Order: sequence, then C-alpha cells, then structure tokens
Amino acid sequence: MKNGLIARYRDWWTRLFVRFVHGGVEKVDRISTSNGEQTVYYFSSDSAIIGQKTWGAETILLNKPQFEHLPDLSAERTVEHEVGHLNRHSIWNGIFWGSVVSLAFGIVSFLLLLTLSVIHKFPILGYPRLLLIISGMVVVGLFALKMNELLAELYVLDQLSEEEYLKAEEEMPVYDVSKKAAIAAEIVYPSPETVVKVHRIKEDLKARIS
Ligand SMILES: [Zn+2]
Repeated sequence: MKNGLIARYRDWWTRLFVRFVHGGVEKVDRISTSNGEQTVYYFSSDSAIIGQKTWGAETILLNKPQFEHLPDLSAERTVEHEVGHLNRHSIWNGIFWGSVVSLAFGIVSFLLLLTLSVIHKFPILGYPRLLLIISGMVVVGLFALKMNELLAELYVLDQLSEEEYLKAEEEMPVYDVSKKAAIAAEIVYPSPETVVKVHRIKEDLKARIS
C-alpha cells in the first residue's frame, strides 16, 4: 500500500517536473542497470542535458533524441551516472539537501542586500561580515553540488573499467552551450581526470584496509 502510494507520487511528480523543465514526458520505459531494472522517463529537447535525476523523486530522465545517438559506452555511462545519484547514501542525502538550502539562501540574501543597497544608496562593501557569511553559504552549496557529481561519477567507475570510462567520456558529444552554462558545468562537474584520480585513491585505501 505504502509502496504503491510512493510509486504514484513519483510518477505524478516526475511528469509534472518534466512538463515544467522539458515540455513533457514522451515515453516511459524500464531498462536494466547495475542496480536492477529502473523506470526511465523520456523527453525530447534540444538542450545539452542528456540524462538527469528528477529533483524530489528517485526517477531517471533521458533526453530521447540525444540519448539514442550515443555510442553504447557513453549511453551506459549516462545511465549509470543517474543510478549513482539514486544510490545516494542517506547521510550524504541529508548533507546534500542542507547544502542546497544554504546555496539558495546565500543567493537570495545576496540579491536582497544588493537591492536594498541600490534603493537606500549604501555601499554593499560596507557590510564585510555579512558578505563573508553569504559567500560562505554559496561556497558550501557549490562544493556540495560538485561532491554530489563526483560521487555519481565514482559510482560509474565502479561499474566500468578506467579505460571504458575514459573512452565513454571521449565519445560523449560536445555541445555548443552558452558561456554561462559552460562556466556552471565547470563549477559543478569534476573533470574525468579528477574522477579517475579519486577513484584510484579510494581503491588504494580499500586495499589497505582489507
Ligand atoms: Zn549528475
């Protein structure tokens, strides 16, 4: 009964989310992944997003036209990255959402301070302590977003060999995105070299412990 309700909520929220963000769900399918069968929702958009986890629901979204053109390894990598997000540890989940709130709060506070400083004509730099706190909140939030992507990529590297992982990365299509989107991606996504390095350190530690 409880599971049925959760499944219904997830389906309802996923469809609503996709409608707002990508224009609507085109097709629902089940695919096999490293973590068993998963429901995926397909949408069609010319955005550079190929795969995504629904915020607030444990479902995977795929951009059908882009996903269908991916070479096998890149397609597997894309799906496993999202499965990695779904397999988030509950403790990390709490830290992650806390940091997202911190990021949102930091940005809103900064915009509010900026607006007030323009209206009341006072220099925004006259409040260094407040600016420091706001910057701290933003940095913590951005760091958590990056860690979140790193963890998902490390999950991919648990499923693929290093060689396959780098090949999948190489075969990913390069999109012509806006400068803003490119900077955002640079901030949030770790480079494949970093992921491989961290994975090696992790494996090394594991071998030492056991
Ligand atoms: Zn991700």
